[in-house]
Amino acid sequence: MLPLTDTFQRKFYYLRLSITDVCNFRCTYCLPDGYRPNKDRDSFLSVDEIARVAQAFGQLGTTKIRLTGGEPSMRRDFSDIIAAIHQQPAIKQIAMTTNGYRLAKEAANWRAAGLSAVNVSLDSLDARQFHQITGQNKFTEVMAGIDASLEAGFPVVKINVVLMKHLTQQLPEFLDWIKHRPLQLRFIELMETGEGNDYFAKHHLSGEHLRRQLVDQGWQLVARAPDAGPAQLFSHPDYQGQIGLIMPYDKDFCDSCNRLRVSAIGKLHLCLFGEQGIDLRDLLHADDQQPLLQARIQSSLANKKQTHFLHQGMTGMARNLSYIGG
Ligand code: SAM
Ligand code: SF4
Repeated sequence: MLPLTDTFQRKFYYLRLSITDVCNFRCTYCLPDGYRPNKDRDSFLSVDEIARVAQAFGQLGTTKIRLTGGEPSMRRDFSDIIAAIHQQPAIKQIAMTTNGYRLAKEAANWRAAGLSAVNVSLDSLDARQFHQITGQNKFTEVMAGIDASLEAGFPVVKINVVLMKHLTQQLPEFLDWIKHRPLQLRFIELMETGEGNDYFAKHHLSGEHLRRQLVDQGWQLVARAPDAGPAQLFSHPDYQGQIGLIMPYDKDFCDSCNRLRVSAIGKLHLCLFGEQGIDLRDLLHADDQQPLLQARIQSSLANKKQTHFLHQGMTGMARNLSYIGG
C-alpha cells in the first residue's frame, strides 16, 4: 500500500494519536493551571475505536503510531490500547510520549504489550526546578522510570526537553548525563500556543543558539534518512547518547513533515497548528465502515497546507499542546 501523500509530495507514515486530554502535571508552558475538566466535550476514543483508527491508517501505509495526550498513561486501559494497536500487522512501531510518572512500575509491562519506543519529558536535572516546572514533586520517580525503560530493553529511549532560556546554564549537566547513557536528548524549541503568548515572549530561545554551541563542542550532524521527520540529529565520538534538535521556526521545518494527528475525540488534524480538525468519529462505530473511513482520511489530505503560520503568530486551534499531544 502506498503511503498517504499530500499535494506537496510529502509522505505520511507516522500518526500521532492522542488518547486523552487529561494530565496530572501542570507544566508551566503547557497547563500552568492544571487540567480543567470540560463537561461538554465528547468522550475519549474507546479501545475498539482506537483499533479502527490504527487499522485504517495501517492500510493507508502508516507504519508508526505514537500515543500521546495529555498524559496517555492516565488511561487505565493503556495496556489494552497498546495491545489492540499491536494486533495491526501494518503498524511496526508503537511509541509513546509520557511525563514518566508511571514508567518505573509499568515500563516492562508496556513493552510486553507491544510498545516499542518511549519519549520521556524531562525539563531539568535538578529536582527542585523539575518541581517548579511541572508542579509535581516526582523527579525521583521519573528518573527511575527512565532507568526502567532502558532496563526493559526499549531500543529507543528519548528524552524531550523544551528549550527555554534558563536551559543554557544546564547544558553541561545534560551533556554529562548522556555521556555514558544511550539516550537521545531532544531539545524542542518552545512553541507559541493560544494560551501561552506571554510565556513564549519571555522564555523562547532559538534552537540556532544551541546548534552553534553543539557544533563548537564537536557535535556532528548525522545524515538524515529520507523518511526522517523534522528533528536534526547530532552525535559525538565521546558520547554514547545523541542529541536531537527540533526547531519549528526554522524556515524549512515543514518540508520534512511526515506525520498526521488524531485527537482523543477522533478528529483528524493535518497540522499541529491547523484549524478545528476533520471528524472521523461517525466512521469508527463498526469494522465495516473501514472503506469510508479510509476514503475520508485520504481525501482530507488535499487540504494540508505547505507550512504552519507560527511566524505570523497564528497558533491555530492549539490553545495548549495537551489537547493534541505536541
Ligand atoms: N504528557 C506527555 C508529556 O509531557 O510527555 C505527552 C503530551 S506533551 C503535550 C508532549 C510534548 O510536548 C512534551 O514533551 C512537552 O514537553 C511538549 N510541549 C508541550 N507544550 C509545548 C510547547 N508550548 N512548546 C514545545 N513543546 C511543548
Ligand atoms: Fe501534562 Fe505533558 Fe502538558 Fe506537561 S507537557 S502538562 S505532562 S500534557
